[in-house]
Amino acid sequence: MESPTGRATDRVAHAPIRTCVGCRRRAVSSQLLRVILRDGFAVVDQQPRSPGRGAYVCHDERCAQRALRHDGAPLRRALRADAGVVVDGEGLRARVREAQRREGVST
Ligand SMILES: [Zn+2]
Repeated sequence: MESPTGRATDRVAHAPIRTCVGCRRRAVSSQLLRVILRDGFAVVDQQPRSPGRGAYVCHDERCAQRALRHDGAPLRRALRADAGVVVDGEGLRARVREAQRREGVST
């Protein structure tokens, strides 16, 4: 969605910018998967936008991989969750693959 001048930032100036836990790239939140805390688990948000703190990951398996290092320590840190929180790594990977399929990304 770039403008003719190539300055996409004009258009997304008011969209929320979030940082990927895996690669630290900043992107519009709609281009990232949102991970939230629910009942002691860190899971991918199934709703468009649940309230509360979120952690964000690109639609990229490498980013998911990084976010899931050390049993998901980077994700827990981003969520300010304690060590008892279980990160649903399989769920995250599945959602990343799903998002890539939807976008027709081939790797
Ligand atoms: Zn990333």
